[in-house]
Amino acid sequence: MLVVQKYGGTSVGSIERIKAVARRVVETKRAGHDVVVVVSAMAGETDKLISMAQEISEEPPEREMDLLLSSGERVSAALLAMAINELGYRAMSFTGRQVGIITDTSHTKAKIERVTAERVKDALKEGVIPVVAGFQGISETSDVTTLGRGGSDLTAVAVAAALGADLCEIYTDVEGVFTADPNIVPEAKKLERITYEEMLEMASLGAKVLQTRSVEFAMKYNVPLVVRSSFTDRPGTLVIKEDRDMEKVMVSGVAHDKNQTKITILSVPDRPGIAAKLFRRIADANIVVDMIVQNISSDGRSTDISFTVPKADRDKAVRITEEVASELDAKGVSVDDNIAKVSIVGVGMKTHSGVAAKMFETLAREGINIMMISTSEIKVSCVIDVKYTELAVRVLHEAFGLDR
Ligand code: ADP
Ligand code: ASP
Ligand code: MG
Repeated sequence: MLVVQKYGGTSVGSIERIKAVARRVVETKRAGHDVVVVVSAMAGETDKLISMAQEISEEPPEREMDLLLSSGERVSAALLAMAINELGYRAMSFTGRQVGIITDTSHTKAKIERVTAERVKDALKEGVIPVVAGFQGISETSDVTTLGRGGSDLTAVAVAAALGADLCEIYTDVEGVFTADPNIVPEAKKLERITYEEMLEMASLGAKVLQTRSVEFAMKYNVPLVVRSSFTDRPGTLVIKEDRDMEKVMVSGVAHDKNQTKITILSVPDRPGIAAKLFRRIADANIVVDMIVQNISSDGRSTDISFTVPKADRDKAVRITEEVASELDAKGVSVDDNIAKVSIVGVGMKTHSGVAAKMFETLAREGINIMMISTSEIKVSCVIDVKYTELAVRVLHEAFGLDR
């Protein structure tokens, strides 16, 4: 069997942890499997690099950010390769470039275009364990790129797809995918299995246990995915295609996301082309907008448009919105950083009614005001005041019987 194992930041967070990972990798090899390892930067390293850059510049050039950030993963890859060698097995570390992870040029959130994996294949042929630095690639113009926060998950899935691996194991600091973040809801239950669709919603709604794009990629290329702990030997959560049984459960999980900002452009004319103009400019800046709400004002001639963007893009988005506001003669722009999005997810929603109503009632009972709502076939999301996040997650978890 060919297995790709990805170890997250906490799993390689210290020299002791790196040695423990080396032992786990060697065990897999001893069991007769071929193994390719993908690593994240040691816990906290990426944040440290970002804050160093911010001490120098408010908006550092993204090309430079990428070279900087890619260094964290190189450190852990090299150290892990040394630790495996120390155990008497041959290992070699590789950067994204060496693995042939070719991306587009959108720095700090580059998209993978193809993976050649030549060096990895060669290493495997010679019985060497390849250790790949996650989170990074190389553009056609030979610039180092990174794949967005949590991007080592994507590296692992993409390498697994390129190699046709039998399994991609994501090792992290929790025992799998839970019904809610186990660090917030102690009653959360580990899911034995979850569908790609549900996992995709959970991830994009803030459950950072898997990076959203890694799930998208796994779904597209049918990469069998397991999320499990590097601290125990328990089996973890299998991410798989939907089967009939899974629709019996109405709600599979609750997710939350504190990483968004709400921007409102006030009192713009109510005529065709306004939203088009605003969101074209935002999209051209490579910013992904999440929720959008438009209200007609009482006079019927102007409207407010509110939308949310990731905190990382906040300043850029506000600047663009202010420019558009002045071009459109809008009354102004208001920004709310103190919001959170709570969501319920489940493929069973397709066949059950009253799920959204129950969610709203549950929040209302706690006196939590809902600022924005969005729904899809398998999720309902509400934007609320950030100070109620934990409370909202806990009461929703209970209301939908997820702790039973
Ligand atoms: P790694 O460094 O291994 O990539 P992350 O910090 O990116 O780990 O992801 C693991 C974290 O995801 C957990 O510690 C947990 O707090 C969080 N998390 C959020 N939602 C969930 C969920 N539904 N199930 C499991 N973990 C979750
Ligand atoms: N080190 C990167 C991050 O912190 C990528 C990853 O850990 O997956 O976002
Ligand atoms: Mg992660």
